[in-house]
Amino acid sequence: MAGRNFLFVPGPTNVPDRVLRAMVVPMEDHRSPLFPELTRACLAGLKPVFKTTHGHPIIYPSSGTGCWEAALTNCLNVGDKVIIARFGQFSHLWVDMAVRLGYEVEVIETPWGEGAPVERYLAALSADKQHKIKAVLVCQNETATGVTSDVAAIRQAMDSVKHPALLFVDSVSALASIDFRMDEWGVDVCVSGSQKGLMLPAGLGVTCVSPKALAAAKSANSRRCYFDYNDMVQANASGYFPYTPSVPMLYGLRESLAMIAEEGLENILRRHSYLAGGVRAAVHEGWKLKLCAVAPKWYSDTVSAVMVPEGFNGADVISRAFKRYNLALGAGLSKVAGKLFRIGHLGDLNELMLLGAIAGAELAMLDVGIKIEPGSGVAAAQNYWRQHAPAAAKAGMAA
Ligand code: PLP
Repeated sequence: MAGRNFLFVPGPTNVPDRVLRAMVVPMEDHRSPLFPELTRACLAGLKPVFKTTHGHPIIYPSSGTGCWEAALTNCLNVGDKVIIARFGQFSHLWVDMAVRLGYEVEVIETPWGEGAPVERYLAALSADKQHKIKAVLVCQNETATGVTSDVAAIRQAMDSVKHPALLFVDSVSALASIDFRMDEWGVDVCVSGSQKGLMLPAGLGVTCVSPKALAAAKSANSRRCYFDYNDMVQANASGYFPYTPSVPMLYGLRESLAMIAEEGLENILRRHSYLAGGVRAAVHEGWKLKLCAVAPKWYSDTVSAVMVPEGFNGADVISRAFKRYNLALGAGLSKVAGKLFRIGHLGDLNELMLLGAIAGAELAMLDVGIKIEPGSGVAAAQNYWRQHAPAAAKAGMAA
């Protein structure tokens, strides 16, 4: 099909040309005396992205899922109890993994479309007088429903009852695009991956581990080998890895971290929020449709899950968008399959790229018979962005 593919799934995201070019390198010896320079640049560059000075970033040749497993098996003893709210496919998959790995899992069932219910976490923690709960798990951004949770409030709930459990946060679709604060929020393990806000292909599990989690990993008796934090931290201390790292991915990561530093993390967070506002204006004001996220406090700045009207199938919109317009939209997963389509708005992205996705979604919806006004989403997003343009951009606007 002529023209570029428009990639608007919520990960993998568009890889900037600069990062792609940085990854085109000949293979090299990962035990050479020069190699530690690359390792150290990546690990040091990740620290400000996690907002940590005390935490240890760790890079696995895996994906985010590997970091979920690493968090559980490094820090917990066999059979330990964990607590987690389930409100979408990704929080569900973390529950499923914890069960399959043999932990006792207390699941806080939460309607899909809402986020982590802080008061229910608090109730469970305050009832746990004997401190049987060893880890509190929370998905910061549920990619399946486009819902962001308040991690700082979960930490406050833990502190308010002086609960000593570890705090594990899935920030796979939030890191480097929605605010995340490892040290300030007292997060013990942050789980992420390369293919979302870090603007790389999938292939790296990117995680960060607090000194408390590392101390737990010294004695925790769950079986692990490939994902052992201690092996990794020890090898990284001299600039190497315990096994063969993906060299091109590390060059790509170094470049993407340089791009993040150049734009500035806070500017990146603001850009995501501003772009997301335009998408939400398209959905609500333009198309008069609903998001899966049921209230503004849950709205995600990296992914919008758009509910299709009764009688229509979201999968038809996605299929039409892909086959006819070369636009990749995210599918409804599991419980919400067919009920929605998702627009990913994270990573290397600007207004015009998003207008392409909004226009394409509009065409696909019209083609399958959904009654929206052609151009309404595009116009609503444009109006939003003109009203909310950053001060520097306003300088060029007619009054
Ligand atoms: N957690 C969330 C919130 C995700 O969105 C994803 C993937 O999209 C994962 C975990 C799993 O990560 P990966 O696919 O990188 O293993």
